Amino acid sequence: MPDLLHSQTVTARKPHRCSTCQTTAVQPGETYTRDTLIYDGAIYDWVQCQLCAGLFSRVWDAYGSPYRDEGIGPDDYAEWASETVRGNYGADERALAQEWLTQAGLGDHHEGR
Ligand SMILES: [Zn+2]
Repeated sequence: MPDLLHSQTVTARKPHRCSTCQTTAVQPGETYTRDTLIYDGAIYDWVQCQLCAGLFSRVWDAYGSPYRDEGIGPDDYAEWASETVRGNYGADERALAQEWLTQAGLGDHHEGR
């Protein structure tokens, strides 16, 4: 899996695209998380909005280590969110998942209720 070299919470000076929900979710003045990772010899930054950063541990628990070697990515968040909104979870948890789907522009794709 990628090794975390550095993690910081910073205040945005310009809009940033979140690496996870892939929308321009970070506006100037808002705080976001910037992780610097190394994987396969390459160093890269992983920018996350507050919503995605707050969900990280849930998605990691569901889809990350020890089940596989690589890190988790947008697809894992999408799967977590669509499973959670349809599953037998608490209202708060489902609201959070729905918020993520809406932000990521996936809100209408998993209606089938
Ligand atoms: Zn995000």
